[in-house]
Amino acid sequence: MKINKVCEVCGCDTNSGYKIYYSKIINMYLCSKHYQQIKLYGEIKQRTRNDLNEIIIYDTYAEIILYDKNNEEKSRAIIDIEDVDKVKKYKWSEMGSGYATATYYRGDMKTSILLHRLIMGLDENIDYDHMDGDRKNCCKYNLRPANKLENAKNRLKPSTNSSGFTGVSWNKLKSIWRSYIQVGYKQKHLGYFDDIKDAAIERIKAEIKYYGEFRSLFNENRYIELYGEEDINNIKIA
Ligand SMILES: [Zn+2]
Repeated sequence: MKINKVCEVCGCDTNSGYKIYYSKIINMYLCSKHYQQIKLYGEIKQRTRNDLNEIIIYDTYAEIILYDKNNEEKSRAIIDIEDVDKVKKYKWSEMGSGYATATYYRGDMKTSILLHRLIMGLDENIDYDHMDGDRKNCCKYNLRPANKLENAKNRLKPSTNSSGFTGVSWNKLKSIWRSYIQVGYKQKHLGYFDDIKDAAIERIKAEIKYYGEFRSLFNENRYIELYGEEDINNIKIA
């Protein structure tokens, strides 16, 4: 007869199908999740309902860990690194529909917001498709306005408050476009440009240099849609 082993932290056991390990570090029987926590952090991480999501930053994207009502990991959403600051003050969870959503109070009114909407903009008239079908992939290259292409094209036209390109922003003080890119944990300044096309091209060059084959094609596709492919092809030949 097999002996039933029990995780001494959460109580799950081999009888219910969990693998239980013995941790020599703290001399306790632990399930794989708690065993890993000891190995990685040297302590058991207990989450409470009020803790914000853990966000893991990789080279080219970041993962938001989503929890169920018992604060166990349920799934992960992915976003561009440059959106981490925007999303990290909300508490995200996965809805039944598969979207990541946050609920918060605006005054005393309970409001909820979808992750991709926070990232792409709050205009209620625009819907976004998750191009790869994964509703938790909220990297900008994966989000496309869902209306007719012609309308989409018009909306994508740059204006002074939003360039429409990732990593290109309007500098109000200098009245000039600025390009930048996230490299590891650092934001690298790429330069100031009068023409948004030059700013976008500089950013795309940097994506090729720093992200290589793992880069998002969001900016390249947007550039081609607006201005044609000649400039992009020239970069790739150069
Ligand atoms: Zn456990």
